[in-house]
Amino acid sequence: MSLLVEEKLEKLVQGGTETLTKRDLTDALSMGPSIDGLLARAAHTVLLRTLGPGVCPTGIIEISNSCQKNCLYCGLRRGNSTLPRYHMTVEEIVSAIENGWRHGIRSFLLQSGELLGEAHAGSVVEVLRRVAGRWGDEAGMVLSIGELPRRTLEELGKAGAHRYLLRIETSEQELYNRIHPKDGLHRFGARLQCLADLGETGWQVGSGVLVGVPWQTVESLASDLLFLRDRDIDMCGFHPWIEHSDSPLAEYRDLAPEREARVRLTLRMTALLRLMMPDIDIYATTALQMLDPDGPEKGLLHGANVLMPGLTPSKYRLNYRLFDGRTAVPDDPGRVMAAMTARCSAIGRKLMPGEPGDPLHYIRRILSVRAGG
Ligand code: SF4
Repeated sequence: MSLLVEEKLEKLVQGGTETLTKRDLTDALSMGPSIDGLLARAAHTVLLRTLGPGVCPTGIIEISNSCQKNCLYCGLRRGNSTLPRYHMTVEEIVSAIENGWRHGIRSFLLQSGELLGEAHAGSVVEVLRRVAGRWGDEAGMVLSIGELPRRTLEELGKAGAHRYLLRIETSEQELYNRIHPKDGLHRFGARLQCLADLGETGWQVGSGVLVGVPWQTVESLASDLLFLRDRDIDMCGFHPWIEHSDSPLAEYRDLAPEREARVRLTLRMTALLRLMMPDIDIYATTALQMLDPDGPEKGLLHGANVLMPGLTPSKYRLNYRLFDGRTAVPDDPGRVMAAMTARCSAIGRKLMPGEPGDPLHYIRRILSVRAGG
């Protein structure tokens, strides 16, 4: 059976349109290292053929580390009383966007823990209005601020954001329930409903999966890939699980793959999704870089096409600790962009600032709907 996967990958390299089955996916995820070179070559070839060598920088601004939730793997969880909490003001957020803008960044991700209530959504709406008033459509705004009611999503969309990332973490309900508290606030069905609401209210929808958590199997990861394809997402990011010492899941680290294996699985997930969805945007996540200094390059060589320069002011950055080991980076987008440009050039790719960064998958989807397809 493993030969069959390898044959399919070779055909994809040659321009074929083979479909990967669940069995192919589980085989590719569980095989030894011999599959890695071919998998990367196939994903990178398909990426270059579909999207070209360009890499879009999406500046990330972590606008608040407060969260009403208590996910068992996360350092921002409500129950972590050791973490100093912060909320950036509207002025600070706009200033961070301006800082990225000066260095050519046109795509911005505002990220926070999940906060219901008027104050948080209201300040995001205010930021979006100011950005729209100043830069119009030239700034592409992405939000990742948790599960929100449909009417709030509509309000945020009207204010000028058009891309939303809502990570599913796992598409397997049983595993979801193991890594979240059973308190009525962390409901798998509510997560699915919010993803559906995002699609129905016109957002470009992104999601993502945690890779290498305790109890996760390759069958579960294969199901995640099929879930993302069936949801017809526009964007995705895979995070290798990194323990946070103040999170309950850290106690179960012995049940997880070694860190090196988590990186390998994350890269394989990236490559397989690229082969399944050639025109979506795939993020090389900061978590990947945390476990492997060459993570960004490896992510790009396995099919990713988005890098995420950090624009969070340094006085806040170290307190956005989803996991252990977060380190300071230069508070200078110019240096960060120069380093990213060099990383891309070294592997024959090209950092392309100056684009608001709408995924080709979304553009094709909209054109297809307009054409009645
Ligand atoms: S994963 Fe997200 S929702 Fe869960 S505790 Fe962390 S920040 Fe909050």
